Amino acid sequence: VESLQQTLVGEQAMVDFGRQLAQACEGGAVIFLEGDLGMGKTTFSRGILQGLGHQGAVKSPTYTLVEPYLLGEREAYHFDLYRLADPEELEYMGIRDYFGDQKLCLVEWPEKGQGVLPPADLIVRIALHQGGQDGRQLQLNAHSDKGRSIIAKLVA
Ligand code: ADP
Ligand code: MG
Repeated sequence: VESLQQTLVGEQAMVDFGRQLAQACEGGAVIFLEGDLGMGKTTFSRGILQGLGHQGAVKSPTYTLVEPYLLGEREAYHFDLYRLADPEELEYMGIRDYFGDQKLCLVEWPEKGQGVLPPADLIVRIALHQGGQDGRQLQLNAHSDKGRSIIAKLVA
């Protein structure tokens, strides 16, 4: 399956869908989260991280750029590249060490890291739901076999 659209109304629905997505990820993956400020990228990331076993809050690492989560045997890294001035900064912070087979990488504002970030397995685009409710429309697009397998599990 190449893509999936989902309408989610309310923060809890967003978190729940993130948890489902975490269940659909075996091992690692690179997931880009696109969408304007306030669309719910961090909320969705919180759902994914909680689905992996993280308990408690998730704060967007706006100033540190990346927040590591060591969850049992799994490693997850949550990036927020909003304040990244130059993609080369990612080279200086040793970006390559964060991406690897068994690592789940969530990247908010991947546009800012263009040219340096590795390609995504899955791109999640979040926009306002055009339907009167204060919800969100999520568009998931697979960009690798891993991404396709995640979407396949979500729709199963
Ligand atoms: P971002 O990281 O994209 O800037 P946040 O995750 O910080 O966005 O969320 C911004 C606001 O949107 C929060 O108040 C959150 O509760 C709300 N929100 C997130 N997802 C939804 C949703 N599906 N429906 C309604 N409100 C949502
Ligand atoms: Mg955010």
